[in-house]
Amino acid sequence: MKKLVALAAVLAVLAGGAAQAQEQAINLYSARHYSTDEALYADFTKTTGIKINRVDADDAGIIARLKAEGSASPADVILLVDAARLWRGEQDGLFLPVKSKVLEDAIPANLRAAPAADGGIPWFGLSTRARVVVYDKIKVRRADVDTYEELGDPKNKGKLCIRSGSHPYNLSLFGAVTEHLGAEKAEVWLKGMVDNMARAPKGGDTDQIKGVASGECQIAVTNSYYLARLMRSGKPEDQAVVERVGVVFPNQDSWGTHVNVAGGAVARHSRNTAGAVKFLEYLASPAAQNHFANGNNEWPAAKGVSFDNPALKSMTAGGKFKSETIPISAVGANQVKVQQMLDRVGFK
Ligand code: FE
Repeated sequence: MKKLVALAAVLAVLAGGAAQAQEQAINLYSARHYSTDEALYADFTKTTGIKINRVDADDAGIIARLKAEGSASPADVILLVDAARLWRGEQDGLFLPVKSKVLEDAIPANLRAAPAADGGIPWFGLSTRARVVVYDKIKVRRADVDTYEELGDPKNKGKLCIRSGSHPYNLSLFGAVTEHLGAEKAEVWLKGMVDNMARAPKGGDTDQIKGVASGECQIAVTNSYYLARLMRSGKPEDQAVVERVGVVFPNQDSWGTHVNVAGGAVARHSRNTAGAVKFLEYLASPAAQNHFANGNNEWPAAKGVSFDNPALKSMTAGGKFKSETIPISAVGANQVKVQQMLDRVGFK
């Protein structure tokens, strides 16, 4: 009898579950490639009961997939890790603008898309990361690498390691520099970096930092969280890398350090927009924002979130630095121009 009651209960749950299935799960397309995020997703499911079915791909892969799937796409939420790609997704009409007081109150206007015609916001920045310079503390003077411009200066010939110019992190940095310097000077700068390379671009940001520590390069470009990850690593080999390198937040005396955002949007053809918005609101909550700061060493995007990350604090003056203020749309709009410049100067 007990068994029958239990079975009936299970069937009831299944029947109810079928009706509510859409609310009980969201399909997430994510370009966030950070293992520490697992705890974030688990916490969301625990608090809301909404399961997350996740598809992992890089920014370009997700955008291509959404386009191919069109209105048949099962995607509810999209997380991308680059401002220009978020801008691209918006231009391509892949996002459903969201009206959420929670999100609008939490995320500053400069870290989210401009309102669409219906007043909804197409995407929200959820965390930020600085594109910084690391250098060999023994061989390089800090004063020779404290601006982006100096990465292309002949005085740094043969010293630079940097990942592919066509990677979104670099395209966005170069798009920002193009906005600051103008296209003509930006192209000279890009050519200067090609001339300064210690080796042809290869690997990710962490590989560039390690290249400095191993002596293959003397200067490298990386997102701040990759360095913070090494700083907080218990591995002796990582500690040895950190010992050897200095870090600069470039252009503190001029237009400020280039900052990129990772962010989220509701998919245009989502069948569970309520669940999708709930997930984005969760990611903007103090708990989740803290997780971005403490788990993945990013800066929170939401206003007034305090965090205690020793690596972020020691990298900067107590966690603070001057960041650039150009609109993200300008960075996105420069992408095609930048890729053409890269092709002309032979920046692979
Ligand atoms: Fe990354």
